[in-house]
Amino acid sequence: MAQGNIGVTSTNIFPVIKKFLYSDHEIFLRELVSNAVDATQKLKTLASVGEFKGETGDLKVYITIDKKKKTLTVTDRGIGMTADEVDKYINQIAFSGAEEFVNKYKDNAAAIIGHFGLGFYSSFMVADKVEIFSQSYKDDAKAVHWSCEGNPEYNMEDTIKADRGTDIVLHIGADFEEYLEDSKIEGLLKKYCRFLPVEIVFGKKKEWKDGKQVETDEDNVINYVNPAWTRQPQDLKEEDYKEFYHQLYPEQFEEPLFHIHLNVDYPFHLTGILYFPKIKNNLDVRRNKIQLYCNQVFVTDEVENIVPEYLTLLHGVIDSPDIPLNVSRSYLQSDRNVKKISSHITKKVADKLFELYRDNKEDFEQKWQDIKLFIQFGMLSDERFYERATKFALVKNVSGEYNTLSEYIDKVKEAQTDKDGNIVILYTQDPDANYTHIEHAKAKGYDVLLMDGELDVHYISQAEQKYEGEEKDGKKAMLRFARVDSDLLENLIRKDDAQKVELTDEQKEGLRKAFEAQLPKGADDPAAKLNYYVTFEAASADALPVFLVQNEFMRRMREMSAHQQGLSFYGQMPEQYNLVINTSHPLVQSLVSEMTSETVLEPKEKKNEQAKSDESNKSEASDSSAAEEMVEKTVWTLAGHDDRIAELVDLAFLASGKLKGEALSKFVNRSLELLK
Ligand code: ADP
Repeated sequence: MAQGNIGVTSTNIFPVIKKFLYSDHEIFLRELVSNAVDATQKLKTLASVGEFKGETGDLKVYITIDKKKKTLTVTDRGIGMTADEVDKYINQIAFSGAEEFVNKYKDNAAAIIGHFGLGFYSSFMVADKVEIFSQSYKDDAKAVHWSCEGNPEYNMEDTIKADRGTDIVLHIGADFEEYLEDSKIEGLLKKYCRFLPVEIVFGKKKEWKDGKQVETDEDNVINYVNPAWTRQPQDLKEEDYKEFYHQLYPEQFEEPLFHIHLNVDYPFHLTGILYFPKIKNNLDVRRNKIQLYCNQVFVTDEVENIVPEYLTLLHGVIDSPDIPLNVSRSYLQSDRNVKKISSHITKKVADKLFELYRDNKEDFEQKWQDIKLFIQFGMLSDERFYERATKFALVKNVSGEYNTLSEYIDKVKEAQTDKDGNIVILYTQDPDANYTHIEHAKAKGYDVLLMDGELDVHYISQAEQKYEGEEKDGKKAMLRFARVDSDLLENLIRKDDAQKVELTDEQKEGLRKAFEAQLPKGADDPAAKLNYYVTFEAASADALPVFLVQNEFMRRMREMSAHQQGLSFYGQMPEQYNLVINTSHPLVQSLVSEMTSETVLEPKEKKNEQAKSDESNKSEASDSSAAEEMVEKTVWTLAGHDDRIAELVDLAFLASGKLKGEALSKFVNRSLELLK
């Protein structure tokens, strides 16, 4: 029997393992199973090149639990180790700069383990004692038994072992008995080992018999040894991709929309399959994350800094031995390889989407609603993706026709260019609510887009900014989106100068007061200022007499503030609408002609008050004399027309889909009265 000290140069590794690495305990299993798989793969390689001539036999890796002895054992039939090899690979963990590194990464077990190649030693995170029983494949090698109780001393002796390969026996510590539970271990194996290339067996398959679960004779194999991403795309059919999707997410029943097979050799190695899921809700997206593997060993599904954020909406796997996985997250972000990987994936995804669009437009259009959110998110968050996506990002009009934005602009350009040469795109977020406006636009030969997606308002603003219009007379044409109800159509796409409103200020004032009196007041807080403003336009005679419009800019800012922090100011402002009185409409004109004027005495206002406050210390006497100073004024009133005005206001609200509840019922009753 040999005894010795484990060769650690500057630090005793055990306190580090036990004390600092508590956060990621469970990865010990991943490390041990990976070692067993490596040893098995090495044996296969040796056999294939003729260096190992014996029977390879059963090459599965077995994980077994002995609850009485409180041990967990990982057994392989790989190349095994001779006593010399145990000494070399296990006893001599010489490294330098340990303390510094350990301090830096003490919260990150993976970093420390990866840095020192301490995979095997991670078993001491959960075990009081670890034993190795190994029989090398080499002809005359003696089997070796190594044991260590979590201190720098170990024992090593010859032993007898029937099978080639290695058993790693963990005597699980009192605090870690959860690792002796079948369900815990099976869960961990499924998490980390599901796609390892060698069969991993944990107990026997179970089946239901007479209302009880009983063991069968069949091995319970945890993994799929030949996952789709490790195979060549030309060898895979559509069904294979779907099958793999369900292997990856056993709890997902929905089929993915389509996939992208990644296969990169240069300048780094990366394989993987990304799927476009049918996104039903955010929960779905969060549950099925992209999984990151390193040579088929699961590493993490926290891929945030490795793939661009918008790609985290996708599902699938990425496998790369070149991603430095055993380092901290902040290091990952700045790693050059990781950056390259990220931009490469972006390019691949964009290329594939373009291909899908080019090869089968109809199919792509059908899927558009499901992938729109993802693509717009990508366009908004990544310049390069934006450039590429303009070739396949679609817009849909209210008749259900799809186009890319530039195709669409070409189609509507002629009709929808205003007198200043700018192109105006009309859209709706709710075709039912905007029905009147949409019909009106269509009647004028305009088209209306449907923009009811979550990110549409951001997309619109981005498209406006990015638009490179033709230059004419030294001025570049601009692209402007306007919701079809954001103003009178005549104003949205101005073809000529606006007609002047032929009313006196007093007449306007009279109309304004009469209409304001019929408007709903600021919602919940009675003190809140009116959300509605009365304005005047000489629109065409065939337009509605009274319109409700909402300023495009303010509304858009409000909507964008929901997703963008800097805009919260807009989010807090009350919603504002303009009630536009169309002074060219016969009904309005007849109201005007029925207005009566009266002469009233009013206190001299403003100017006087201004003067008053300027000379701050005036006597009370002069105050009262100022109040007595009155002027004669003509005011126009529409007394006795309340019902007609209320009816017109209600019609404006009705045309915008905003007449609801009590107001609607009042309208119905009043209309019946008026018909009598
Ligand atoms: P790493 O796997 O990163 O090299 P480990 O500490 O996990 O670090 O293992 C050290 C070495 O011990 C391995 O490189 C391998 O040579 C040897 N080894 C570990 N486990 C086994 C095993 N089950 N069979 C054969 N060799 C093994």
